[in-house]
Amino acid sequence: MRKIIFVFMIFLLVFPSLSKEPFEKRVEKILDEITPGLIEIRRDIHANPELAFQEKRTSSIVANYLRKLGLEVREGIAGTGVLGILRGSKPGPVVGMRADMDALPITEEIGLPFASKVKVVIDGKETGVMHACGHDVHTTILLGVANVLSKLRNEISGSVLFVAQPAEEWGDGANEMLKAGVFKDIKPEVMFAFHVDDELKPGFVRYTLGYSGANCDGFHLIIKSQGCHGSAPHSCVDPIVVGSEVVLALQVMVSREISIHNNTVITVGSFHAGTAPNVIPQKAEMRAIVRSYGEEQRKILKEKVERVIKKICESAGADYELNYYFGTPSLYNHTELMKKILPTVERILGGKNFLVEGLPEMGGEDFSYFAREIPSVILGLGVCPPDVKSNSVHSPTFLVDERSIPIGVKVMTNIILDYLKKK
Ligand SMILES: [Zn+2]
Ligand SMILES: [Zn+2]
Repeated sequence: MRKIIFVFMIFLLVFPSLSKEPFEKRVEKILDEITPGLIEIRRDIHANPELAFQEKRTSSIVANYLRKLGLEVREGIAGTGVLGILRGSKPGPVVGMRADMDALPITEEIGLPFASKVKVVIDGKETGVMHACGHDVHTTILLGVANVLSKLRNEISGSVLFVAQPAEEWGDGANEMLKAGVFKDIKPEVMFAFHVDDELKPGFVRYTLGYSGANCDGFHLIIKSQGCHGSAPHSCVDPIVVGSEVVLALQVMVSREISIHNNTVITVGSFHAGTAPNVIPQKAEMRAIVRSYGEEQRKILKEKVERVIKKICESAGADYELNYYFGTPSLYNHTELMKKILPTVERILGGKNFLVEGLPEMGGEDFSYFAREIPSVILGLGVCPPDVKSNSVHSPTFLVDERSIPIGVKVMTNIILDYLKKK
């Protein structure tokens, strides 16, 4: 018997890989060790939030952490963006993971011991700054995944890029990083990201096939008039009446001219005119959002909106100024890639029941700039604490259950490992 054990030990020394536990178990072991440190980092970032394109402190935390792990680090991409490159010991595909670092001008109201006390002045008004969209969690998970994978580097075939981007809330941080050449030397063939899901509990993940974010377009319109007495409306154009017609005609246009298969929302969220009941004002001003999916559809909508406004103003004899803009593009989750990774997510979460299929939404997410160039997938990570009923991102009471952090790290690490293995 002793002899057999001896021979087996020699065998393991000669073939060390056979002595190793499966990746999944080792990921868990490493995770147990690093989770307290990750929670500390998350609380530190949470207590010191920074607004879009001002993420100096956060980005240096990210860069220093990645550098300590032995990654190649590039800083200052589009201002505060960071790229960490982890090269496995063997050649293979390049995979990217993205996190966003910016916070919001919201005053935190929960009373956490690590609540943000940061204040800024915007338009002469003092307001707090808060990680009310969970980007502190995204950043922490990125660091956690980098940490775990750096410890498994000897067995990784391929490279992993860690992208920490500025200004997601402004909808263009990702675009700015691409413009600054974040991938000019090394480009991932696929990209992954999380966004916190404020409805799901920790341990649950939401996935959406196809579109999960809309084109965030819109317009600013000024309808002009000479202005006249309210009792003599025939003597000038009434920009309020013309504007009202525009608001309604746009809703009719959406319901009558757009196929039900092309999700479209137009909301005129701001409409200002006039100072007194007996004065027809010299202008009416409105701002609207126009949401849709796909490049083709946004162009069609622009033409239709321009036509509706032009025709209504012309028929009333009103001059106008229209500024129509294209904002963040819609976010398309690559279907094949999603199908490829879902079995991994299911296995790590412990079953199908922990996977929730999401419906397409008309919100914006600037991860779409990466997804437009590289097959990409974003997943919703459940972060809602069990005893909280309504928990909304972008609200001063948004709360994260920190148990979601190691879960996020575990899920993403395994997605990346499985992807690299299958290649
Ligand atoms: Zn947000
Ligand atoms: Zn967000």
